[in-house]
Amino acid sequence: MQDSYDCIVVGGGPGGCATAALTAQAGLSTLLVEREKTPRFHVGESLMPETYWPLKRLGVLEQMQTSPFVKKVSVQFVTSSGKESQPFFFKQHDPRENSQTWQVERADFDKMLFENAAAKGADCYDETRVLEPIFSGQRAVGVKLQTQDGKKREVRCRVLVDATGQTAFLAHRLALKVNDPTLQKTAIWSYFKNARRDPGEHGGATIILQTRDKKSWFWFIPLSGGITSIGVVADRGLLRKERGSPDAVFQQQLAECEVLSRWLADAQCNSRYHVAKEFSYATKQRSGDGWVLVGDAYGFIDPIYSSGVYFALYSGELAADAIIAGLKNDDTSAAQLGRWCAEFDAGANWIRKLVRAYYSKDFSFGGFMKEHPHYKADLTDLLIGRIFHDSAGQIFNDLDPWLDRLEADQPSRDQPTMKNS
Ligand SMILES: Cc1cc2nc3c(=O)[nH]c(=O)nc-3n(C[C@H](O)[C@H](O)[C@H](O)COP(=O)(O)OP(=O)(O)OC[C@H]3O[C@@H](n4cnc5c(N)ncnc54)[C@H](O)[C@@H]3O)c2cc1C
Repeated sequence: MQDSYDCIVVGGGPGGCATAALTAQAGLSTLLVEREKTPRFHVGESLMPETYWPLKRLGVLEQMQTSPFVKKVSVQFVTSSGKESQPFFFKQHDPRENSQTWQVERADFDKMLFENAAAKGADCYDETRVLEPIFSGQRAVGVKLQTQDGKKREVRCRVLVDATGQTAFLAHRLALKVNDPTLQKTAIWSYFKNARRDPGEHGGATIILQTRDKKSWFWFIPLSGGITSIGVVADRGLLRKERGSPDAVFQQQLAECEVLSRWLADAQCNSRYHVAKEFSYATKQRSGDGWVLVGDAYGFIDPIYSSGVYFALYSGELAADAIIAGLKNDDTSAAQLGRWCAEFDAGANWIRKLVRAYYSKDFSFGGFMKEHPHYKADLTDLLIGRIFHDSAGQIFNDLDPWLDRLEADQPSRDQPTMKNS
């Protein structure tokens, strides 16, 4: 490890690995540090189809195509009454090379990205924890870190990238985190062998199932080796530990979901139950002099549409471009390093609105599409992640008033009703 780098990236998830690979490839000296030993376990297995483009730019497409990762060509929603929507096949309205994506074991996927950053020339160290940032006035100039052998040292840089995921070490340090009071959710999940699967290509789909009382929803993500990742998400009160162990609380919610219970009739749980809490938040400043946030450290919306890894990779890519251009002109100002954020936010906001739609009382994709079938292509675009262009989000011209009408007709008391702002 050198004493100083052009760029230090903290966090070896998809966001950090994307930034480090691209800055190193552009010839900038880059340090990427990950506190865990790689490969490390992580939630977030279902990829959005648009993830294809950052993966292509990073040069890992061939590895993905020859990997044992399950191929994902569709998503589906199951309502509280057990009605299964028509699957949304990504290739249906506009077939493209990215109409197929993957369900990934994150340990393997993230390790591939970490090794790719090293192959592109970044100095990559796992089991290396950043203890704190070093500032000179307002400017980030390096980090204090602890290396694999337990020794502490300082390393200097021209640009510091916080890609520490939900740890959000800079956002915490600088008090930038803003929690979304309407999205204070908890998730409990585990891994099951022999869950029922569609025998055709739809067998790789992510399926979102709402429980009978609509107070929670399950994800169903088929992985390789006949394993399925299954998790439940609800307001934190419903899944709190006073109601029992994670296993017991999971089973309470499963009893509310007849379709999934049927699919799991012959399945065996083959892992412990994991819990994640209060994972949705934004940050009020995304870059400063000499620093920039990417991935979950920048903000996280909600897992329902599987946008997290895509946003991490894409924001990592955009941040890398800003860093490369900035260092060429000796401009590492907040404006330069965050020049991409407004455009990124505009696209991400469509997903935020779609999340809020899902959590609105009595919302169903089927119900809305029945009245507005011409929006099928727009909706599929959102579910694919094709959101970073001017005509994205047109569906909300009619979806917003439709949701307002639902809310006016049936105000909810038992679930926070969210305005589609
Ligand atoms: C319940 C749940 C379900 C989800 N499901 C999906 C899904 O199906 N599909 C999807 O796309 N997304 C999903 N996500 C989101 C997804 O997990 C994240 O968006 C994604 O992992 C973000 O990548 P990242 O690189 O920003 O952060 P991470 O992948 O979290 O990587 C950050 C890394 O930084 C390291 N780190 C932290 N602090 C330090 C430090 N001080 N020093 C060094 N290293 C440090 C961590 O160890 C970690 O490896 C889900 C999230 C949740 C909560």
